[in-house]
Amino acid sequence: MHYTGQVYRPPSEYDTPLLEVTIGCSHNKCNFCMMYKNTPFKISPMEHIKEDIEELQSCGVSFRKIYLLNGDPWCLPTQKLLEIAKLIHTHLPSVKSISSYVSIKNIMGKSQEEINELRAAFYNDLHIGVETAYAPALDFLNKGCNCEDIYEQIHKLNRAKFRYNVLLMLGIAGKGNAEKNAEANAKFLNETKPRIISVMPTTLAFGSELEKLTDAGAFIEQTQLDMILEEKMLINSINYNGYFYGGHNMNLVPVNGFLKDKQKLMTKLEHAINTLDQEILNSTRPRESVSQDLAL
Ligand code: SF4
Repeated sequence: MHYTGQVYRPPSEYDTPLLEVTIGCSHNKCNFCMMYKNTPFKISPMEHIKEDIEELQSCGVSFRKIYLLNGDPWCLPTQKLLEIAKLIHTHLPSVKSISSYVSIKNIMGKSQEEINELRAAFYNDLHIGVETAYAPALDFLNKGCNCEDIYEQIHKLNRAKFRYNVLLMLGIAGKGNAEKNAEANAKFLNETKPRIISVMPTTLAFGSELEKLTDAGAFIEQTQLDMILEEKMLINSINYNGYFYGGHNMNLVPVNGFLKDKQKLMTKLEHAINTLDQEILNSTRPRESVSQDLAL
């Protein structure tokens, strides 16, 4: 198999075969993200993709799902994505879902007809780094999209009946804005109704633009307690039965479950607030060498 530079996948894809179709991230400019800073963006040659699909076929396993690498494979032209799907279905006919990270910017580059075609070719189970639906925070992140874009693009996916997981960052609106971020995210989720909602705390990655902005005083981090309270507000405000995933190893208090049981999730967070060491709760997250997204 061809794997080049940094390779990431969401935790839920731990047992999905990984097929490299791009290397790095075509955007690579989100101010918090260092995931692919040392991996220049490239498109995998079709020969490599075909060789890897044939290698997967030689395993003799009836794979149900394939995960396309890397940061935003939907930057590829729709025609190329459809060619890749055709190769997958020819060699691995048991595959019923072609999953990957997808950015809002990627979806903006595709018409509704193209989105429908991709769905018909079994693209599905997308992991979408929305990060926040709170406009001032989203504008600050340099994701290449604004708040209207995220609503518009997610509605495109809904019209084509995609399943997807929306990734959100707790604390990304900065100190004092947890409530506004939770409110804006809940409004977005209640309107678009993603099947899965994944949250992770904002963590400063060494060398990131966000780290520099923090050191310059332009961004004030939230404490662990602020982010748990934001998570609790968010859970409380979601009004449909999606699956809530706050169980990444970066989450101080892991909470997972369907939102029909939201009281259980909130009770667990409340228990943590009442029992965890005050020093931990009032600290900010330690800086890390790489973040963000739901990377392994
Ligand atoms: S967060 Fe996602 S889209 Fe943004 S730079 Fe990182 S990998 Fe690329």
